[in-house]
Amino acid sequence: MTVSHHPPPELLAGFAAGTLDAGEHLAIAVHASGCSTCRRLVRAVEGIGGSALEAIEPAPMKAGAFEAVMAKLDQSPPQSSASTDSVADDDLPETLRHYRIGRRRWVAPGVSMRPIELPGPSRSRVFLLRSNPGTHMLEHTHTGTELTCVLRGSFSHEGGRFGAGDFDFGDETLDHQPTVGDGEPCLCLVTMSGDLRINGFFGRLISPFVRL
Ligand SMILES: [Zn+2]
Repeated sequence: MTVSHHPPPELLAGFAAGTLDAGEHLAIAVHASGCSTCRRLVRAVEGIGGSALEAIEPAPMKAGAFEAVMAKLDQSPPQSSASTDSVADDDLPETLRHYRIGRRRWVAPGVSMRPIELPGPSRSRVFLLRSNPGTHMLEHTHTGTELTCVLRGSFSHEGGRFGAGDFDFGDETLDHQPTVGDGEPCLCLVTMSGDLRINGFFGRLISPFVRL
C-alpha cells in the first residue's frame, strides 16, 4: 500500500499527546495503523513530549492521559445486533473491529453510511461511507473539519487522487466535489465536526434530504 496523503502534523502531534477529540483520535489511529511514516512521527513526538514533561513545571499534560485514551481505544464494547449487518464492510482495519457499527442507510444515490459508536462523548460524528464506483459526490463545503481515511477504492478531487491508506483533511476553506474512482466501491472512515453544506441550486434543493 503506497500512502501519498498524510494527516496534518498538528493532528499527529495531538494524537501523540492524547489531546484529540475521540472521533479525530480514531481517524488518526486508523491511518497510522497502515502508515509507517506517521507511526514513526507519532513515536518521535511522544519522545519529545516525554523530555518536555521532565523539563517543564507544571506538566502540561495530565499524567496517564495518553494511556487512558489508548485503553479506551482497546476496549471491546459488547457486540450488538446492529453490528451484524448482512452486507459486511469486510477487511475493516483491526482498530475498527472494537467499535459498534450501526446499520447501513442510504444518504444519496449510490452512497450509503454506517455510523460508528464512540466509547465516550465526542464533538464529531464518525461513520463509514461507501460510494459506488464513478459516483460524483455533491460539491460541498464544511462548517467544521472532515477527516477521511480511505480504506478501499479511491476518489479524486482538486487536491489529488486518494487511494487505500490515504488521509484527506478538509475544513471550511475547502470547496470540493470528489469523484469516486472506477472499478470498485470506495469505502472511507469519515470523522466530521460541524455541518456539511451542499452548494449550488440543486444542492440547496436536495440538501434537506441528504443527512450524514
Ligand atoms: Zn501517514
